[in-house]
Amino acid sequence: MTETTVTSASRSAAPDHGLDIWRELAISQQPSWQDSTVHRSSLDELSTLPPLVFAGEVDVLRERLAAAAQGKAFLLQGGDCAETFEGATADRISARVKTILQMAVVLTYGASLPVIKMGRMAGQFAKPRSSNDETREGVTLPAYRGDMVNGYDFTPESRGHDASRMVRAYHTSASTLNLIRAFTQGGFADLRLVHHWNKGFTANPAHSRYESLAREIDRAVRFMEACGADFDALTRVEFFASHEALLLEYERALTRTDSRTGLPYDTSAHFLWIGERTRDIDGAHIDFLSRVRNPIGVKLGPGTSPDDALALIDKLDPNREPGRLTFITRMGAKNIREKLPNLVSKVTDSGAKVLWVTDPMHGNTVTSPNGYKTRNFDDVMDEVRGFFEVHNELGTFPGGLHVEMTGDDVAECLGGADPIDQEAFLDRYESVCDPRLNHMQSLEMAFLVAGALSRR
Ligand code: PEP
Ligand code: MN
Repeated sequence: MTETTVTSASRSAAPDHGLDIWRELAISQQPSWQDSTVHRSSLDELSTLPPLVFAGEVDVLRERLAAAAQGKAFLLQGGDCAETFEGATADRISARVKTILQMAVVLTYGASLPVIKMGRMAGQFAKPRSSNDETREGVTLPAYRGDMVNGYDFTPESRGHDASRMVRAYHTSASTLNLIRAFTQGGFADLRLVHHWNKGFTANPAHSRYESLAREIDRAVRFMEACGADFDALTRVEFFASHEALLLEYERALTRTDSRTGLPYDTSAHFLWIGERTRDIDGAHIDFLSRVRNPIGVKLGPGTSPDDALALIDKLDPNREPGRLTFITRMGAKNIREKLPNLVSKVTDSGAKVLWVTDPMHGNTVTSPNGYKTRNFDDVMDEVRGFFEVHNELGTFPGGLHVEMTGDDVAECLGGADPIDQEAFLDRYESVCDPRLNHMQSLEMAFLVAGALSRR
């Protein structure tokens, strides 16, 4: 009897780090689960499953991001707008990882800096939506909110919010991460091999303008080889997983106390970001993520005031810890040169050291004449250029690129040197959410950004 009392007393005295305070705060973009029994059992199951990432890896990432915030590394973060369970195949995962590695080699050369490689992968299964419903031909159903919540098929069964999907999202993340770890640690990431793949890109006559940069990289690789560089060491790369932390009960269930530090880590991914729609300063998302040790990103749209940015810094990075906070700006090509300077200046003046990353996708979404959600490659690149211009003028560091991309030959964004036109959407538009750069467009972007980085 006494023993039981002691046990429960010591349990309740264990610090909870305020990890459940979010439950009392305003929260948006959460599902309305249909079945409360399934809901409860799914969360119970998630809270007992092993972590997907380790606290030590998360700490390493924070150090890497701190270097980027100081201008000593560059972040490349890319992947689907919305991963799907069906799309988690070996071919598609490897194509995406391969494309990110190919982009990273080009960027490493352009920046002469280490590139931190991070997927919007192994957990990007929940989406914020502007409308709760979708209407097709007079039929209205709940909007698709990502495979973690409901299905994409337009039927009442599929669109119902099913909490068991959170458990499936966990397992799909685990198998995706397992493959990523195998690829990036098992020889697949050999620099010479990745460089060889890039030769396929420049062999396309449409990309001949990138040949000279590719030749320079080739010479650099051969130079390293001649110098006796340890290519064995270069066969392994660090690769981090990230997603939008949208469904807080999923994130909460995967949050564990690290035995070394006694601090809470959200073990669903190394890096988590808060979207433009859920970054309400007094809301649940900011509160919950302020309490975990992971590095955190926040998306900042064109309506962000300097005061908003400063309030976010105070809440999410009160100790001004390098690598803790990344601002991912998504202003739109039309706004970036006007809106970004004031934001960056005021943050810099405050003494805070955040990492600035550009998301040139989300402020440049348009509808094609034939009715598809798309983005023009030129607008995307214009926002990237604007981001570099602003930071170069202010003397701050343009620290990274956040893109929606795939390794497959899809047709979702318009343009590029080997141009995609809207007719191609009819056969090759596969995204269940936002349009992604395809394999070639992603590599082209890397070559263009490498050029901009080398001119800094
Ligand atoms: C996203 O990254 O897919 C997204 C929804 O972005 P944002 O929060 O910037 O709108
Ligand atoms: Mn998106």
